[in-house]
Amino acid sequence: MVTFEQLKLNAALLKSLDALNYTLPTPVQAQAIPLLLQGHDVAAQAETGSGKTAAFGLPLLQSINPGLQQVQALVVVPTRELAVQVRQELKQYARFIPNLKITAFYGGHSFRLEEDSLAHPPQVLVGTPGRLTDHLSRRTLDLTNVAQVVLDEADKLLEMGFEEELDDLLRAIPRKRQTILFSATMEEDVKELIANSLQDPRFVQASATA
Ligand code: ADP
Ligand code: MG
Repeated sequence: MVTFEQLKLNAALLKSLDALNYTLPTPVQAQAIPLLLQGHDVAAQAETGSGKTAAFGLPLLQSINPGLQQVQALVVVPTRELAVQVRQELKQYARFIPNLKITAFYGGHSFRLEEDSLAHPPQVLVGTPGRLTDHLSRRTLDLTNVAQVVLDEADKLLEMGFEEELDDLLRAIPRKRQTILFSATMEEDVKELIANSLQDPRFVQASATA
């Protein structure tokens, strides 16, 4: 059985996993983390509760440069509840990485406060499609330094009708990027999004938890 050490995660991340009592990677983590650390685009399907946030979050955090105050990774989620939850989970994984800022933008949150926070941009931004595209159209958010973009709960993003917002967001990010898609299900519309947005993707499918 593979361990987090064998997945080549760095000491700061291993320390936080230890503090969280994560003893072994779940199947989706064991499969997705090496592919993501190698820089591949990845499309992963795994059921709810299978540990998808850490599967994309750990390699994402390992790839960030904490010394650069730019939005380097964007995580798009369908709802404000998920935005808050994913930010919280990423913060737990990043607790031993100094100077790493993780922020969430979502509807119902003060636009003005979000705009002000961009004076010192976070390296990792989690957000809902509507609020993120609001920032794009008002030119308050610069996504030109984003090197990794995650579409989390892609099935739900499409089910909620965010296709156009996703297009707008992806168009604002340089094409030379790593695009990562996680979904609980893999219907036609999700496959179409993968075909249109990912480059030479590796596919991961995992069932059950560790
Ligand atoms: P998903 O996005 O697949 O629905 P989450 O990423 O929200 O699942 O993870 C579900 C729960 O499992 C969370 O409470 C998370 O902290 C926990 N978890 C994730 N990976 C591990 C692991 N390797 N060991 C123990 N708990 C884990
Ligand atoms: Mg999830």
